[in-house]
Amino acid sequence: RYSTATALEDPITPPVKVNHTQLLIDGKFVDSASGKTFPTLDPRTGDAIAHVAEGDAEDINRAVTAARKAFDEGPWPKLTAYERSKVLLRFADLIEKHNDEIAALETWDNGKPYEQAANVEVPMVVRLMRYYAGWADKIHGLTAPADGPYHVQTLHEPIGVAGQIIPWNFPLLMFAWKVGPALACGNTIVLKTAEQTPLSAIYAAKLLHEAGLPEGVINVVSGFGPTAGTALASHMEVDKLAFTGSTDTGKIVLELAAKSNLKPVTLELGGKSPFIICEDADVDKAVELAHFALFFNQGQCCCAGSRTYVHEKVYDEFLEKATALAKKRSVGDPFKSGIQQGPQIDTEQFEKILRYIRSGVDSGATLETGGERLGAKGYYIQPTVFSNVKDDMLIAKEEIFGPVQSILKYKNLDEVIRRSNATRYGLAAGVFTHNIDTANTLSRALRVGTVWVNCFDVFDAAIPFGGYKMSGQGREKGIYSLSNYLQVKAVVTPLNNPAW
Ligand code: NAD
Repeated sequence: RYSTATALEDPITPPVKVNHTQLLIDGKFVDSASGKTFPTLDPRTGDAIAHVAEGDAEDINRAVTAARKAFDEGPWPKLTAYERSKVLLRFADLIEKHNDEIAALETWDNGKPYEQAANVEVPMVVRLMRYYAGWADKIHGLTAPADGPYHVQTLHEPIGVAGQIIPWNFPLLMFAWKVGPALACGNTIVLKTAEQTPLSAIYAAKLLHEAGLPEGVINVVSGFGPTAGTALASHMEVDKLAFTGSTDTGKIVLELAAKSNLKPVTLELGGKSPFIICEDADVDKAVELAHFALFFNQGQCCCAGSRTYVHEKVYDEFLEKATALAKKRSVGDPFKSGIQQGPQIDTEQFEKILRYIRSGVDSGATLETGGERLGAKGYYIQPTVFSNVKDDMLIAKEEIFGPVQSILKYKNLDEVIRRSNATRYGLAAGVFTHNIDTANTLSRALRVGTVWVNCFDVFDAAIPFGGYKMSGQGREKGIYSLSNYLQVKAVVTPLNNPAW
């Protein structure tokens, strides 16, 4: 069962020091132009970990000027692709070397279990950087057969200065998804971290410089959305914007981009992903996977399997076992070994989740377990399971972004397809079945960017990720994200010898 209150109230001292709290602009650590700072908070206690430079429009301007110069004057975009690749490989080596330190910073700032950060997320960042290092010297255009005496070639050129805005739920991984392809393609970057989790990206950007990245190629500005974020999205000298965050903010930045210089935008937004357990499912395995799909990372995943659709034949057994598993989930100080769930990110998310839990109860869903905060300090919430959830309840429609599993019953495939697709979101889906026909039918019918069949949250560097509908625009990771950071130039030359 849940850890004791004592474990929650006497936080373990993190095995790391915070050495970098400034902005990183043009290769140098600097204070914000205003001199202002803001506290980044420990989600275990709500106390300040450190005070971080608060960048705003003026700092974004300084950062864009540096990135512009580094792009226009080089050397980065003009380096050989092999040289760029070597920088990314050295960066991957440095992340690997400092794995535990970075993981500790991430846990302290975000609240995620240290073992998850150290054994899964930071190694994924290393792998992703090596993957994109591999792409750097494999990006090239083609020749096209034109009607007439012309030689036609396409050049794939870097797009320029990339503005990147990231969220707090996977701070370093989101940094990597954005920075890896942008650098491999030869772009320069201004990246704004989420105000809740500024620490790991500053550290990583420092390592990028140690790896040989020239000054001005990456600039990291910590700060808030309405100030620094707005300035970046609407900047006239930013050539491309990549955003990960909520759907509401995605709409805002898309509008800012359109109203300024029409910079192309990629968006990775929210979700309400169905996890469908079919009648033939091995219930024990389905319970475990559905639990992981929802509770991983304190439920703070854009693709969380937050609508668990269970076929009526296995519903009762599933519900009993899913509830028992949630009751066993170990919640506590994320630095403690064996802990599966730490605190939520901040007081705002914590209150929002508790409001959704109350709304679930008020709307008539059955609270099977959980539903309360845990401990008196910090943002811990009991793993919560609702049954008898109906599609029109708020907890089945809106993104909760917390450890709240909603279990819904269905009767047949057509019905579950219709209900799964009846949402404004379309990020991901899980399908649990041994029937190949059912798997194929669901994979094609679900209007989502990823279908995980008998697995969930598989995030290899080569697998593209992104949303249908209001879950986003474009894809990140894999070969697909390269095109986000490239311009295609057609070069046409007459062929003057008609014989050849
Ligand atoms: P958010 O949209 O509030 O913040 C995300 C980022 O946008 C932060 O850096 C924030 O400072 C910035 N921002 C906020 N307002 C802005 C503005 N007006 N202009 C420019 N930038 C602004 O989202 P959040 O609550 O921090 O993150 C959680 C959300 O992110 C969830 O909805 C989740 O689904 C989504 N998310 C999606 C993915 C994905 O890949 N699809 C991944 C992680 C999180």
